[in-house]
Amino acid sequence: MSLTLPEPDRAVLARQDDLVRQLGRLVPQAVLIADEEGRRTFETDALTAYRCLPLAVILPSSTEEVSSILRFCHENHIKVVPRGAGTSLAGGALPLEDSIVLCLSRMTKVLAIDTLSRTACVEAGITNLGITQAVAAQGFFYAPDPSSQIACTLGGNIATNSGGAHCLKYGVTVNNVQGVRLVLMNGDIIDIGGDHLDASGYDFLALIVGSEGQLGVVTEATVQLIKAPEGARPVLLGFASTEAAAACVGAIIAAGIVPVAIEFLDRPAINVCEHFVAAGYPPDAEALLIVEVEGSDDEIEYLLEKVEEIARDYKPTTVRRSQNAAESALIWKGRKAAFGAIGQLSDYYCMDGVIPLSKLPKALEEIGNICKRYRFDVANIFHAGDGNLHPLILYDANDGMQLQRAEQCGAEILKLCVELGGCLTGEHGVGLEKRELMYVQYSDADLEQQMRIKTVFDPEWLLNPGKVFPLEGRPPQ
Ligand SMILES: Cc1cc2nc3c(=O)[nH]c(=O)nc-3n(C[C@H](O)[C@H](O)[C@H](O)COP(=O)(O)OP(=O)(O)OC[C@H]3O[C@@H](n4cnc5c(N)ncnc54)[C@H](O)[C@@H]3O)c2cc1C
Repeated sequence: MSLTLPEPDRAVLARQDDLVRQLGRLVPQAVLIADEEGRRTFETDALTAYRCLPLAVILPSSTEEVSSILRFCHENHIKVVPRGAGTSLAGGALPLEDSIVLCLSRMTKVLAIDTLSRTACVEAGITNLGITQAVAAQGFFYAPDPSSQIACTLGGNIATNSGGAHCLKYGVTVNNVQGVRLVLMNGDIIDIGGDHLDASGYDFLALIVGSEGQLGVVTEATVQLIKAPEGARPVLLGFASTEAAAACVGAIIAAGIVPVAIEFLDRPAINVCEHFVAAGYPPDAEALLIVEVEGSDDEIEYLLEKVEEIARDYKPTTVRRSQNAAESALIWKGRKAAFGAIGQLSDYYCMDGVIPLSKLPKALEEIGNICKRYRFDVANIFHAGDGNLHPLILYDANDGMQLQRAEQCGAEILKLCVELGGCLTGEHGVGLEKRELMYVQYSDADLEQQMRIKTVFDPEWLLNPGKVFPLEGRPPQ
C-alpha cells in the first residue's frame, strides 16, 4: 500500500460509542450498522488493495434522513463517505477510520416517468440497469451503460461521470442527466436543474456531475430517456496487429460515422473472454474491434457495409457481422464479462486514461513498452471510439512489492496519456488512486481553484476527504 489516508481525528475516534448512539436516534436501528462484522462489508470498494473500517455505516431511506445525518455530522465534525454500490475502481468509496459511510443503496425508487418529456426521476441508489428496466416496456432506455451496470448506482455514476460502451453516440452521464437533488454537508437540500432541458445561470449541474462525493450527496436525479432504436447489430473485426486495429478506429471516426460503440480487445483479453464465455471471438487475432451501429434494418446494413469497407484498408483477419439478436447478445456477453473473466485468472490493476483518438496506435505501443519494463503482462479492453483506455496490469496481490510496482507502472501509463494530450481519467474518477497524479495534469493554480470550490460547498472538508486532491497543499482540515 503506497497511498496514505489523512490522519484520523482522535477526538472523534474517542467519542465513537457516544456518536453512534446519537446517530441511532436519527435513523431506525435497522439501517445503522455499528458492529464490526457489519462494518467490514463496507471496508473497501473495487480497489480492493485498500481497506479501512469506518466508525459506522448508515443506509438512509429518504432525502430528509440524509439531510439530518449530514447536519449531525457537520455539527460534530464527523467525516462522511458517500457510497452507492462500492464498485469504484479508484478507491472513491473507501471509508476513513473517523468517518461514517452513507450508503444510498436502499434508495431505489422510481419517482416519476414522463415519456412525453422523455425523462425519469429516480432515487440515487437505483442501479444503472434498473433505470432501463423501469422504462423498457415503454420503448425507452437510459443510455450510459458502464460494464458494472447490473450493480452500480446512478448516484455513483453521477459522482464519477460514468461512461460505457454505448456512450460514443449518446454521451456520458453528464450529457444524460438533467437535474439532481443534492444534500450539502450542512444538511441543506438543494435542487439543481430539473424537468426542463436547460437551466439559467451558471452550469452547476456540470460541476456536480463528476465531483466524486466532494460537494454534496445526490439523493435524486432526473435523467433523460432515449427511444430504443428499431434495431442494433455489431460486426466483429479481427486484426493481425493492435496498431492496425487502432488505426481502423481512427479511420471509422474520421469518415464521419458515429457507431453506437467501438470496443477494443487485445490478444490476452480475447483469449480470456473466449475461454469464459465462448463468444466466438477469433483466437488468431492480435486485436478485435466490436463495432455496433443501430437504426432500421436498411440503415444497419448500410452502416455496417461502410465500416467493413473502411476496415478492409487495415487488412482484417476476421470480418463477422452479427446476423441476429442472439449472436449480438453473445458478442456483447464476451465484452461485458471481460473484467470479471480476467479477475478469475489474475489480480489486476485497471487503469482509466483518455487520449486523443489520433494517438491511439502510439499509446498502445508505449503502454506495451511500459508494462514490459515493469515485467507485467497487460490486457487491453476499452471504449476505443472515445479514446478511453483501460489497460489491466496483471499482478499478484499477495506480493506487496508487486502492488507497489503495479501502481508505479499505472502512474507511468497515466502520465503518458497526459503527455499525449489526454487526461487522467475517462470514467472511473480520481478517487484515492490518482490523487497524487493531479499535479501531472493541473498546475498549482488550477488545483487551488478546484480546492476553493470544494471549500465553498464543504468548508471543513468533511465530505469524502483523502480523495481527488493531493494530500499535500490542501487547506488544513
Ligand atoms: C467490473 C467493473 C466494470 C466497470 N466498468 C465501468 C464502465 O464501463 N464505465 C464506468 O464509468 N465505470 C465502470 N466501472 C467503475 C464503477 O462501476 C463506476 O465508477 C460507478 O459509477 C460507481 O458506482 P457505485 O454506485 O458503485 O459508486 P461507489 O463505488 O459506491 O462510489 C463511487 C464514487 O461516487 C461517490 N458517490 C456514490 N454515490 C454518491 C451519491 N449518491 N452522492 C454523491 N457521491 C456519491 C462515492 O463517494 C465515490 O467517490 C466498473 C467497475 C467494475 C468493478
